[in-house]
Amino acid sequence: RSSTGMTCAKALQLTLAVIKPDAVAHPLILEALHQKIVENFIIIRKKDLTWRRGDSERFYAEHAGRFFYQRLVEFMSSGPMRAYIIAREDAITHWRGMMGPTKVFRARYTSPDSLRGQYGLTDTRNTTHGSDSIESARREIAFFFPEFLADTWMKMEEPGFRLG
Ligand code: GDP
Ligand code: MG
Repeated sequence: RSSTGMTCAKALQLTLAVIKPDAVAHPLILEALHQKIVENFIIIRKKDLTWRRGDSERFYAEHAGRFFYQRLVEFMSSGPMRAYIIAREDAITHWRGMMGPTKVFRARYTSPDSLRGQYGLTDTRNTTHGSDSIESARREIAFFFPEFLADTWMKMEEPGFRLG
């Protein structure tokens, strides 16, 4: 409690979490990942969607030209995904930590309990996406949830609840 008698909550943070097509295609893995999210975060929004190839290309434009880009773009538009806006303290770091390393063999050997370590199939089919910074969380939430007005939504929340 602060000197004014008000409870001093630590700032909550929003991030984007996505269950990728490989994991959505497997009902038990989808359910396991969903439960992990429920246990660790407040779910603010949730939607199932399927990308067209162009969505995939725009979202991953930063990787254009990398050797895995075509495969990545193809994969991410190959079937349904599930996206969430999730909240907690240090949400960005917490979700990235739960996911584990990008590359599946590294995940399996160095973080076997991580989501990618447990359920990842290959470096491309690695189960989940998470924003990696405050800026990318903002951009990526808007990409997946264009109807979600983050700033307006934030204004209606308690002070201390912020995007970032
Ligand atoms: P993330 O933020 O951990 O998802 O990793 P990046 O932003 O570096 O890469 C985006 C996505 O591209 C990853 O999640 C993988 O699906 C894919 N990817 C990244 N690096 C590799 C790689 O070396 N090989 C393959 N096949 N896919 C990769
Ligand atoms: Mg990334």
